[in-house]
Amino acid sequence: MKKQLLLLIALQDTDIKRLAIQNKMKALPEKLLPGKIELNKLESLLQDDRDRYEQTQQWRRDQETTLEREEEAIKRAKVKLQESASTRDYAAANRELETKRRIMSEREDEVLKVVEALDATKTLIEERDELVSTLRERIEEDEVEHSAVLNELNDTFKATNQERDTLLNTIDQEIISRYERIREKLGIALMPIVHGTCKGCYMNIPPQLNNIIVQQQSIETCPSCHRLIYAAEEDEQNI
Ligand SMILES: [Zn+2]
Repeated sequence: MKKQLLLLIALQDTDIKRLAIQNKMKALPEKLLPGKIELNKLESLLQDDRDRYEQTQQWRRDQETTLEREEEAIKRAKVKLQESASTRDYAAANRELETKRRIMSEREDEVLKVVEALDATKTLIEERDELVSTLRERIEEDEVEHSAVLNELNDTFKATNQERDTLLNTIDQEIISRYERIREKLGIALMPIVHGTCKGCYMNIPPQLNNIIVQQQSIETCPSCHRLIYAAEEDEQNI
C-alpha cells in the first residue's frame, strides 16, 4: 500500500502541475490585453488627428482659392480706379479697392495662423504615429514571445498527461475511482496529516485513525472533509 500511496501522490502532483499549466495558458492573453487597449486608443486618437488635419487642409485650400479670386477682383478694381472719369467715381473705386484689400489681408492673416496650427498638428501626428508604431512592434514581439511560451506550456502539458497516464496504469482502479470522485468535487483529493491535523480542512483526526494511517496499510478518508489522507513524511511535517 505504501507504494500505491506514493504513486497516488505522484498522480496528484501531475494534476496540480496540469492545473498550474492551464492557469498560465489562460493568463497569457490577459497579459497582452492592456497593451492592445492602449494601442486601440492611440490609433483612434491618431485617426482623429488625421481627420482634423485633412479637414483643415481642405479649409486652407478653399481659402487659397478665395484669395486667388480676391486678387483678381483687386486687379479689376485697380483698372476701374485708373479708368475713373470723375473724382466721385475715383473715390468710390478707391473705397472699393481699399475694402477688398482689407478683406484679403484679413484672410491672409487667418490662413497664416491656420498654416502654423497645421504644422503643429503635423508634428503631433508624427509623434503619435511613432508612438503607435513602437507600441505595435512591442505587442507583436510580445505575441511572438507568448506563442513560444504557449508552445512550451503545451509540450509540458502533453508530457505531464503522458506521465499521468503511466501512473494511472500502475494504481489500483478502486483507489483511482475514489481519488477522481473527490478531485472532481474538491480539486485537491489527497492530503497529508501533519501532527494529527488534516491539511485539507485543518481539523484533527481521531488518534485511532492516525495510528492506522501511520501504518500505511490502507488509504483512509478524512472524517471532516472526506479527502483521502496519508501520514506526512518527516519532510512534510513543517508544511
Ligand atoms: Zn480533512
